[in-house]
Amino acid sequence: MLLVAAGTTAGAQSRDTVRVDYSASRCHSCAAWNQPHAPARIFGNTYYVGTAGLSSILVTSPKGHILIDGTLAMSAPQVMANIRALGFRVEDIKVILNSHAHFDHAGGIAAIQRASEAEVAASPWSAATLERGMSDSADPQFAIDLPYPPVASVRVIADDESIRVGPLTLTAHFTPGHTPGGTSWTWVSCEHDECLHMLYADSQTAVSAPGFLFTKNTTYPTAVHDFENGLTRLASLPCDILMTTHPDASNLIERLAARDSGTIATLRDPASCRDYVARSRAAVMKRFASEGGNP
Ligand SMILES: [Zn+2]
Repeated sequence: MLLVAAGTTAGAQSRDTVRVDYSASRCHSCAAWNQPHAPARIFGNTYYVGTAGLSSILVTSPKGHILIDGTLAMSAPQVMANIRALGFRVEDIKVILNSHAHFDHAGGIAAIQRASEAEVAASPWSAATLERGMSDSADPQFAIDLPYPPVASVRVIADDESIRVGPLTLTAHFTPGHTPGGTSWTWVSCEHDECLHMLYADSQTAVSAPGFLFTKNTTYPTAVHDFENGLTRLASLPCDILMTTHPDASNLIERLAARDSGTIATLRDPASCRDYVARSRAAVMKRFASEGGNP
């Protein structure tokens, strides 16, 4: 699974400066994911600063900001430009969080960390993966995963841990399965007199490299249990506004456009949170069943 590092001599340079080949032959979806998207207020102090195909969420305060997910390495400049376009300073990001440590959500974190000098915090498996810039054999997609610039130093967080910056409090909910380190995040954002429960749900898709079986796997033996627990956990979280790692999984881009054009009055939609879990659970169970036998 070695990738060609463009313009570098193998071993002569730190991975930090390796430019990974995300051309169509390596990453079928990267060009579409990397399409620009204008930044937008989701609700209160929560903003969408990602690309057209990959979410990055900024939660702001006068005492500093928290960013969740860095999108692709090549998308990091877009994310930072979006933050600046909203009138915020990248240097005011104090903490960077992650949903899961795949290249399409974590690839840009190293560059944003360098620009902001923010602390990066993640679950134990994700923290080790972020520091390597590469997943391991427990990852269902290990054999097809792409490397990305490693993150210099990652603080390991615990399940249910709250991350605080000034008045901001974001809480980690471990929802593994898609990867062993998957984490969903909740917080409260307020606008005028209304305060809503925000949920940034991690990917809940049972996608794997060819040959990987969730139900009979030795490198990730808790995969089935993790998915079931994670989905149950997700269903239990307070959620008025759902955001997902890929915005299309929750129609986030369309919902923002509909809100801004007046077609819908608000992004508040608790039913969409329940639907996301139900759809995800059905697809995951279908995948497990397709592997034959009992998990
Ligand atoms: Zn993924």
